[in-house]
Amino acid sequence: MDKMEKIVSLCKRRGFVNPSCEIYGGFANSYSYGPYGSQLKKNIKDLWWKMFVESREDIVGIDGPILLHPKLWQASGHTEGFNDAMVDCKKCKKRFRADHLVEEAIGEDLEGKIDEMNQAIAKNKIKCPECGKFDWTEVRTFNMMFKTEMNGVEGDVYLRPETAGAIFVDFKNVMDSMHLKIPFGIAQIGKAFRNEIIAGNFIFRLREFEQMEIEYFISPEEKWESLFDSWLEDQEKYLAELGVKKDEIRRFEHPKEKLSHYSQKTVDIEYEYPFGFQELYGLAHRSDFDLKTHSKASNEKLEYYDQENNKKYIPHVLEPTFGLDRSILAAICSAYDEEKVKDETRIVMRFPKHIAPVQIAVLPLSKKDELRPLAREVFEKLKNQYASEYDETQSIGKRYRRQDEIGTPYCVTIDFDSLEDKAVTVRDRDSMKQERVNIDKLEQYFEEKFK
Ligand code: ATP
Repeated sequence: MDKMEKIVSLCKRRGFVNPSCEIYGGFANSYSYGPYGSQLKKNIKDLWWKMFVESREDIVGIDGPILLHPKLWQASGHTEGFNDAMVDCKKCKKRFRADHLVEEAIGEDLEGKIDEMNQAIAKNKIKCPECGKFDWTEVRTFNMMFKTEMNGVEGDVYLRPETAGAIFVDFKNVMDSMHLKIPFGIAQIGKAFRNEIIAGNFIFRLREFEQMEIEYFISPEEKWESLFDSWLEDQEKYLAELGVKKDEIRRFEHPKEKLSHYSQKTVDIEYEYPFGFQELYGLAHRSDFDLKTHSKASNEKLEYYDQENNKKYIPHVLEPTFGLDRSILAAICSAYDEEKVKDETRIVMRFPKHIAPVQIAVLPLSKKDELRPLAREVFEKLKNQYASEYDETQSIGKRYRRQDEIGTPYCVTIDFDSLEDKAVTVRDRDSMKQERVNIDKLEQYFEEKFK
């Protein structure tokens, strides 16, 4: 099994992530986060909110709707241009994203250039990676927005393909209700939907996913380069908090000729997934494009009033965007470790303590009635302060193995000696070292450990 297969298998076995609707044979590459996965997801989201909203005076959060006015998507260009290119193999009927097919075959990125992609396929006689034949349909575009309908609204309504739109349409409301001084940001976490031609690589490319985005408004005269750099550093600091190591990420700056006309600079932070380096986060300078476009389309002034200089202007914006599902995948891949212990392979998820879905497991050595009251007492003591789990099933060895696989930093074992000496054994996930701690001192002990 390669590393990705091992991770997918562990995620399912241990309640992190599983294919959804399995009883109906699965459904279009969609996944559910199980009990530990949803806790991990929540911890990763909460950490983001804490780091970028609660602990920053210059950023406020919002929670906008998924269904937004169709005019918004017209103005932003999504209705017309949020397209990917697809091509089908006529022999085996497999569908591909045309730009990915070409790039994998000849190493050239022709995204957005339909004619060139058709020519490249023909000229290089690119074969179908599935069946090896050369028999393609024409490359054609496909709008990735999911359409739906809404009572009382004429025409199509869309599920938002990104969270940013909701921020721009709320710009005025936030300005009116808060006393914000530029530079300031508006942050949001939420679902986005894209009808990807090919979803895959587990939770890397989904059709329904979550984004954590910030629109950071700056003055058009601001020397934005240093702010841009500090945003990249902040994105990387956040990744370090998720347990991602420096050498697992790299920056990729989009070449000038590939930037949208309004963008001064775009950098992706790529992560080395088991299937190679791929985009994890992005950071873009989007100038005043979005506010200007929405202002024009809505006839509303989306301006900032600079009191000190008695000036009104449309702010420019830096947009740091973080994929939540890709963050979870990165945290899982970085945490995954195997080591030989005696003759066995120990699988251990080395999550940082603050994002581990379970922080402390309380494990009475046996199911015997004598141990239960004390074990429950210890559990009650800890559970309000730490994400804790009580487990008395199976042998202690199996329970340690299970806790290692879900990444629990500490196991507390209550044995028969505990009844006499009022002490427990604390086992450290990473070193597997065990130490005896008095029950009276346990809270203090963990306070130190979780500092
Ligand atoms: P890609 O090139 O991989 O399709 P993108 O450049 O289109 O991504 P953005 O539009 O910049 O992505 O979206 C912002 C972030 O949302 C990405 O950096 C990524 O983390 C996340 N994201 C985008 N598409 C998906 C998807 N289909 N599934 C999961 N996360 C996604």
